Amino acid sequence: MADLAGNLARAEAALARFSGGVAHRIGGRDVRSDASFETVSPVDGAVLAQVARGGAAEIDAAVQAANAAFAEWKAMPGKERRALLHKVADAIVARADDIAVVEAMDTGQAIRFMSKAAVRGAENFRFFADKAPEACDGQTLHAPGQVNMTSRRPIGPVGVITPWNTPFMLSTWKIAPALAAGCTVVQKPAEFSPLTARLLVEIAEEAGLPPGVLNVVNGFGEDCGRALTEHPGIRAVAFVGESATGSHIMRQGADTLKRVHFELGGKNPVIVFDDADLERAVDAAVFMIYSLNGERCTSSSRLLVQDTVYDEVCAKVAERAARIRVGHPLDPETVIGPLIHPVHEKKVLSYFEKAVAEGATIATGGKKLGETGCYVAPTLFTHATNEMAVSREEIFGPVLTAIPFRDEADALRIANDTEYGLTAYLWTRDLERAFRMTSALEAGMMWVNSENVRHLPTPFGGVKASGIGRDGGDWSFDFYMETVNVCFATTEHRIPRLGG
Ligand code: NAD
Repeated sequence: MADLAGNLARAEAALARFSGGVAHRIGGRDVRSDASFETVSPVDGAVLAQVARGGAAEIDAAVQAANAAFAEWKAMPGKERRALLHKVADAIVARADDIAVVEAMDTGQAIRFMSKAAVRGAENFRFFADKAPEACDGQTLHAPGQVNMTSRRPIGPVGVITPWNTPFMLSTWKIAPALAAGCTVVQKPAEFSPLTARLLVEIAEEAGLPPGVLNVVNGFGEDCGRALTEHPGIRAVAFVGESATGSHIMRQGADTLKRVHFELGGKNPVIVFDDADLERAVDAAVFMIYSLNGERCTSSSRLLVQDTVYDEVCAKVAERAARIRVGHPLDPETVIGPLIHPVHEKKVLSYFEKAVAEGATIATGGKKLGETGCYVAPTLFTHATNEMAVSREEIFGPVLTAIPFRDEADALRIANDTEYGLTAYLWTRDLERAFRMTSALEAGMMWVNSENVRHLPTPFGGVKASGIGRDGGDWSFDFYMETVNVCFATTEHRIPRLGG
């Protein structure tokens, strides 16, 4: 990894290509709009690019392009689609450094994490590429006098709406399975960080993806995103973002009976019992809230610690948090960069006052850093209860709330007392307790004695207000495809002769 000066030089070169503005990409062509918006760097508020602001007309053009490309893309043999998607993955790896610096400057995420984002994105393409040849396969189901044959078909052009945190990785996570399934895509990236979605469509087309198979329309949620979710030509919407936005999208898609897949917010507990390996538990808790600026849906933002070791664990976490390096996202030493945008920074800062007003202790952090840029100190609230706003609301920053619990029942009650249910992390050496807890925790994904380590074939998704549906493995194809059944009669069975 280059040093800060080297990364700045690379970023300047990589960002220069956006100086003429960012157009939509529709049917393999650049399309501009009358209106535009700025994407600004959270490092210093500098304008990185003027981005075309699309609305219903641009969405309609993109849906038409996706529709026109669908028949041929769907008919492409799975093996050919696999080869092409591997080429996209190769091209992503070849551009990994550009993707990393642009992502870091557009989102504020530290380069030490973003340098892996492109590689993760390429892995997503490879994983689903390899599954493309079997995507349409089904089962045969036998009954007396009949054989049923199921198969899957791509559902059609789909909408993909992505959020501003780690946008490149998340775009590949949603788009790769859609393409592997044989769907065409219209993507609406988040308005706070739209640049790497533009890189992805360019890279994919350069690697040979036919025009119109992936289209990108930039704009705001309330008009552009809305138009996508309401468009009758879009068969399904894969959305990653806030729970409240998920409700809007469900309403907007109701008239056209959209199939929806939602990956939403979280207020995830990391539960530490006193028999756990406390050093490792602290490592994992610190990593899961202070990496990626805490702007991470799966972050462990509630630290539930057994009262017998609560002070010890909190002291260790506070000490570590205070030592975490906050700085320029392109500095390889930086762990926490600036938060995405002043609007989001204001929201995160508001919880520092709320925490104190509600009676929690700020053990470390709790303040803005510097005059320029959206820098916030890694923060730990202690002596909190689960009733406080800092324990209930998704702050989406490097802010951890530590809550003591007495015993297993108390831990479970607190962990489940939330509207969310995305992930839970459990630390104990007691195997039976681990089974009991994981069978009762209300979360879509749980890790025992581990931080979040993803294995792509496993299901990803949340329960309660954290999401609807699963992706990963074959679950992604279930969303992007329709399962159909054909029943063959194998005997001349008796047909009721009505009116005969
Ligand atoms: P957001 O919901 O504000 O925006 C997400 C996207 O939805 C953006 O592209 C936005 O323009 C669009 N949008 C907004 N209103 C819309 C509408 N009415 N119709 C259609 N589209 C609309 O979310 P955000 O602030 O960009 O992202 C942060 C949130 O995303 C957090 O809650 C986080 O937990 C969640 N997230 C979840 C996961 C997951 O896998 N569960 C992953 C990453 C982020």
